[in-house]
Amino acid sequence: MLNLRSPAPQRIVVLGGGTAGWFAAIALRRLFSPKVDIQVIESSSIGIVGVGEGGLLNFINALQRYQIDIDEFVRETGAAWKWGFSYEGWRTGGEDDRFYHLFASQETPVSRWSERGFYPCLSAMIGQNIPLESYLAASPLIKANTPQDQASALLKANGGDIVPSFHFDSYKLATYLKKVALSRGVMHLDTVVEEVVFDQQGHARMLRCADNRTIDVDFLIDASGLSRKVLGKSMGGKWHSFSDYLLMDSAIPFYMPHPHENPMLVTRAITMDAGWMWQIPLIDRVGAGYVFSSKHISEQQAIAEIEQRLGYAITPHKTLRFDPGCFEEVWVGNVMALGLSSGFVEPLEATSIGQMLEQLYSFERVLVHSQGIISDKTIREFNQANFQSWLGIRDFLRMHYDNTRRDTPLWQAVSESPYPESYRALRECWQERTPRLLDVESYAINGWRGIFHAINWMFVAAPLGVVPSRAGQMDLLALPAEKRQQALNFAAERHQEINR
Ligand SMILES: Cc1cc2nc3c(=O)[nH]c(=O)nc-3n(C[C@H](O)[C@H](O)[C@H](O)COP(=O)(O)OP(=O)(O)OC[C@H]3O[C@@H](n4cnc5c(N)ncnc54)[C@H](O)[C@@H]3O)c2cc1C
Repeated sequence: MLNLRSPAPQRIVVLGGGTAGWFAAIALRRLFSPKVDIQVIESSSIGIVGVGEGGLLNFINALQRYQIDIDEFVRETGAAWKWGFSYEGWRTGGEDDRFYHLFASQETPVSRWSERGFYPCLSAMIGQNIPLESYLAASPLIKANTPQDQASALLKANGGDIVPSFHFDSYKLATYLKKVALSRGVMHLDTVVEEVVFDQQGHARMLRCADNRTIDVDFLIDASGLSRKVLGKSMGGKWHSFSDYLLMDSAIPFYMPHPHENPMLVTRAITMDAGWMWQIPLIDRVGAGYVFSSKHISEQQAIAEIEQRLGYAITPHKTLRFDPGCFEEVWVGNVMALGLSSGFVEPLEATSIGQMLEQLYSFERVLVHSQGIISDKTIREFNQANFQSWLGIRDFLRMHYDNTRRDTPLWQAVSESPYPESYRALRECWQERTPRLLDVESYAINGWRGIFHAINWMFVAAPLGVVPSRAGQMDLLALPAEKRQQALNFAAERHQEINR
């Protein structure tokens, strides 16, 4: 059992002042009485990773939960709307090869009409190879590169269509969250933590810093980024690598000017010879990067390929290396790893901050519902749920690589890489019927909420052909004739709109 009530903790330390660390500090400050110190320790000499500029469907909800003023957030972080992703070159590699994964709301008539677990309108569209985004009012605005104020107007008028999120500057975000946290009483120290001292039960009790300072700790959030200072380096946590299934292990970030008149309303994921390039449009610039497999291309070759593709020289930031995966247990004793220190796969679908916020939300739920008296069983179940959530991310990302590209050694290797068993089992069914909640809800267990709905899976699975049109047609056979016709009429209207 972990007792955070009696005697009350004196100090909770968050090691790390990146997005994860500051969000955690804000969350904890809200939960604990002012008698408990919440202290963030970060090192300006180490700095933050400086990437991670796109949120997911849970981002605005998190800002609201932490009572962060959205207008102020937008002003201070250079934020621009994010309504989903544009996948370019993932099938043929051709100029016109593009599909969208948009953050479709689950509150539209299309997603609310469910029969035996499937969505007749979506099944009808898949059955006739109609792009799924075409039922969303957001879609033409994205394609027309609509300015931000007009996008805001659509959200106000038709807010139920899409769940908006943001692109933002990661440095400005950390600075802004720090300002919010300090204004609410979070304490801050700029130093390097060199050693974590544990008691006989394996609980972290003290931090030794480079300036000879020592800091007592009752609970420790390890948000130390890719350095994984506590759970990784000091505690030897068990790492679970996904590298058999996800081949990307390196990234070269850089900035670029907007290629279009206005910031695009989606993150672009553009395939390259040995991976793919992200382009995240903020108000003033685009944050970009080449994610690649180091077995298939060198850093120099990657930079040359970017420059050839863009037609101008870039100033690359430091190359980041990672082993895609996560710790099997992120909460051990009185230490919990959060953000990059707990796991990272790759930026595809921008899952990292989204997963971090889900973990933080579930952690808060445990603290509140247990009133600080936390059983080993609860911690075990928390870890199981967190791990399961990562497996969902692994499978979702693996599906993106289940594509038809074979034209370079990397895409050849991708096509030969194995499926995780859980993904293989789902994929087998999806040859006969469309994905449904039943298939993906087990990625969110023990009270966790999950990031991606079955509809998100469909937005990617259908255009890639992982779910063939036949699956949509088969779904409809289960419907009485009148309902089937209603769904087919809906698809026919979308078809007409596209070809108008
Ligand atoms: C290539 C790449 C692209 C990404 N793209 C996306 C994306 O599009 N969307 C998304 O959601 N996420 C993305 N991410 C992940 C995202 O960057 C992180 O989830 C997010 O920035 C949170 O980082 P963090 O706070 O965990 O770590 P960091 O920002 O690295 O912060 C770590 C902190 O720990 C401190 N620290 C470390 N060691 C010590 C020590 N010994 N003593 C004192 N302080 C220490 C550092 O100073 C720093 O303050 C991407 C990541 C990578 C690598």
